Formats: sequence, structure tokens, C-alpha cells
Amino acid sequence: MTDSDNSNYLLPSFLKSRARTRIVCTIGPATGTPTGIKRLIRAGMSVGRLNLSHGSSEEHHSYVKILREVASEMGVAVGILADLPGPKYRVGEMEEPEITLVNGQHFVLQREPCEGNAERANVWPLGLHKDITNGSSVLIDEGEIELKVEEIKSEQIHCRVTLGGVMKPNKAVTAPGNTTTVDYFTPETVNALGFVESSDIDFVGLSYVRDGKDVERVRAHLRRSDKSPQLVAKIEIQQAVDNLVEILAESDAVMVARGDLGVELPFERVPAVQKRIIRIANEVGKPVITATQMMESMIVSPTPTRAEATDVYNAVRDGTDAIMLSAETSVGKYPFKAVQAMTRIAKRAERYLEHPMLAERRQKAAAKGGLAVDDAIADGAVSTAVHLNAKAILAFTKSGSTAARVAAYRPSKPLLALITDFGAGAKLALRWGVIPVVVEDHREIQDMFTAASELVIETKIAKEGDVIVAVAGLPIGVPGTTNLLRVITLPEPVHHNG
Ligand code: PGA
Ligand code: MN
Repeated sequence: MTDSDNSNYLLPSFLKSRARTRIVCTIGPATGTPTGIKRLIRAGMSVGRLNLSHGSSEEHHSYVKILREVASEMGVAVGILADLPGPKYRVGEMEEPEITLVNGQHFVLQREPCEGNAERANVWPLGLHKDITNGSSVLIDEGEIELKVEEIKSEQIHCRVTLGGVMKPNKAVTAPGNTTTVDYFTPETVNALGFVESSDIDFVGLSYVRDGKDVERVRAHLRRSDKSPQLVAKIEIQQAVDNLVEILAESDAVMVARGDLGVELPFERVPAVQKRIIRIANEVGKPVITATQMMESMIVSPTPTRAEATDVYNAVRDGTDAIMLSAETSVGKYPFKAVQAMTRIAKRAERYLEHPMLAERRQKAAAKGGLAVDDAIADGAVSTAVHLNAKAILAFTKSGSTAARVAAYRPSKPLLALITDFGAGAKLALRWGVIPVVVEDHREIQDMFTAASELVIETKIAKEGDVIVAVAGLPIGVPGTTNLLRVITLPEPVHHNG
């Protein structure tokens, strides 16, 4: 295989030159072919994202199949994220594909199904009338149209149009700042969960989560079918911002979903909320994705704007684990250029990353209530690697948890996760800075150290006389037992166990 540096270890050379920040790419018609996926991976994609609010389930199944096949052919662990629709109000069908509403006119949002026209439209699922009061503002299609509520009469919402525009069927209806009382499990969400259960998904994105309970319920639902994907809470409404700490406690990762957040909140609040979500996620050691409009202009243009380059750069400096592309890679004209541009900007930002500041976030939070052994080892590995100028940190990890813990301390030295199958690698795909390498399943700890030494020499990460740091857990293969830190000066003498 041309991608491989050597025959013993699967470490495609392009993995070493990747950004340490992870890149999530939404898959769609522009990229959902074997060639498209291959080019995305080469450009730096770690996670392919399916938006289950759009497209058919056949399409999504085909994307999963292509992602898995291409990744394994290339010898890379790629994660798959599938986003659930979640509870979101929408207008129903319309008499015409476009209905014009004008400033000052009267308009009714009603519970009864109807073909929408210039006087009324149906809003579903049921419940909006309970979430708003007289005077509330209601947005259709992310602010294309703005209404002010004048009266709520037997579940009919009478409004005045304060910003006229063109209304189209099935567009989102938002009441900024208001809590939603509708059940998380809308029919579309249950349907999407059915897809997750019938597929091979590493991460599930929870749109419009409101509190920890929503996350807990989705986890319980999936447990019934024996699936345990990691749950990514999408922070995109005020209520989720208010309940951030509780949501993070129930989730495996979070997303700063700036698209909806910027509609639900005044847009000038989004940057501060982004920084806060990233900081708190860093503290609890869970991955955070910064999403939406990062390279928006590249949907139609081959280069990003200066503002977009600066936005990506700043998200990396803020401490995000991952950055995401939506329409840029699903339907855009320059999907591969967008990923390449992100890689270049992220790598530039990583030169100036404040590793000690980021490690300190985690240290302070981890120490609260007494430091756990595995966190002490992870922290120790990162600082030992700095003090000894080690060439790399190698984490032996069956489930991925040991490498994940080390990554949370944002090591300045390369971090390799030595895993025994691609599945574990895919689960690490949102973790900042982790390079997954598939190795043999060693049963003896000394064989693991020998393998680590061979690996770094063969892949030219280190040479004779250099120091590497290894972390592992004993007994081998039991998750959550990171308890061993070893400093190896190369070459490690070969040890025979007889
Ligand atoms: P979406 O989520 O792309 O599914 O809407 C991300 C966001 O709102 O930013
Ligand atoms: Mn959203």
C-alpha cells in the first residue's frame, strides 16, 4: 500500500501531517462517493457526519457503507456522527411553494393541519402556544420572517407580521429565548433513532437538547437495542446554555451549534457562549465541536474569507477539539479545498496553542473531590513528556479511554493511541490530537513496550537515544484502569518471555 510507511504498523504517512484539531465533514451529494470520501480523508477529515433531518435512510446507509469501506482500505480510523432532528417546530404544507407575507398584516399559526396561505399556517408538533406569551417574537425560517404574538386563543396563535418575506413549506419556527415543552421523541426523531439502531454509528448528535434528562432518555432508548454510541449534545437554544453543566455531565461530547444558537440568542452573544462551552468541556475532559458557517463562503468560492480564516484560527486557540463543515462539504462547490483550508489554518493556530493553560483547565477540574489515579497518570505523562523532551506519548488503550484521558491534558508532544481494532479508533475520532495506530493485541506488558519502541523507530517519530513516554493500564484490556507510566529510552532491549 502506497500510503504506508512500513509493513508492521498501520500508520499512513498523511496521518502524521494532519492537524491535531479534528475535522468533522457533513456528507452529502458533493462528497458521498468512494472517491469523494477518500479525498475528504486525505484532506484531513476525522469524522463523517450525516444529518438525519435531510435525505433518505437508503442514502444514509450508503454513506455509512462507503465511509467504513474507504476508511478501512486507507488504514485510517474514521468516526461517523449522525444527527437526530430533535424537537423543532415547523410550518406545515403550503398551497404554493412560496407565500409572501407583508409587514403589518395579520397571520395565524394554528394547531389544525391546513395548507398554508397568506392568512394562516399549521405549526407542528403541537405545543408552541404553551411556549410563548403575548408579545413574544416568533421567527420563521431562521428570521426570514418575523412575527409578534398578539393573542393566543384556543391553541391558535394570532400574530402581526413585523418583518415580511417569503414563507416556504416545512421551514423552522423559533421563539427565541423560550423553552420548548414538546416531547424530545418527535416522530422524526424516533425514526432517526431507528436508523441509528439499524446502522453502525459512533456518535449521535442530539439537536435541540434542553437538559440532562433529554440526553439520559436518548441513551436509555438506544440501550434497549444494545447500541452505545457516544452522545453529542448540540447546544443550540438558550435553555441548553442555561443547563450546560448538567447536559455535559450526561453527554460524551458537545457541539457549539452556532447556526441555531445565533437565531435563538442575539448573535452578539454567540462568541462568548462559544468560549464558555469550550472552556467547560475542556475542564470536564469531554470533546467539543465548534460548528457552522466556519467556511461558509467556500460553498461557492475556492478560498475562505479573512474573517472565516480568523474564526477557525480562534476556535482552535479557544481549545476546541473539533471544527465542523456543513453545507461546505455536503453540497458545496469546493468541499476538498474547504477541508484543506481548515487543515492549514488549524495547523497554523496549533503552533501557538497555549498547552499549559489548557492543561490547567483540566487539572483544576480533575482535582476537585480528589484526583483519580487515571487522571493523575494522564497528567503525569503529559508533563513528563515535556520535562524529558520526549518525542511522543504512546497510550495503550483497548477501549480508547486511556488515550482520551491523556488528550484531555492537551499534550504538546505527539499522542499515539495504540489500539487493537479500528472500532476503538473511530470512537477516538473526536478527540483532539490522538493519532490512532492499530497494533497486535499484546498480552504481556513488556511486549507492549517493545512494540511501542519498534513503532516509533519504524515510523520515524523517534530515533535511537530518544525518549518516549508510554501509558497503560494493568490488568491489560480493562477500561478505566490507567495506572502505569513508563519512560523508555530507545532502543528498548528486546525481552524474551520464554
Ligand atoms: P444543524 O446544527 O446544522 O443540524 O442545524 C448545527 C447548528 O445549528 O449550528
Ligand atoms: Mn442546528
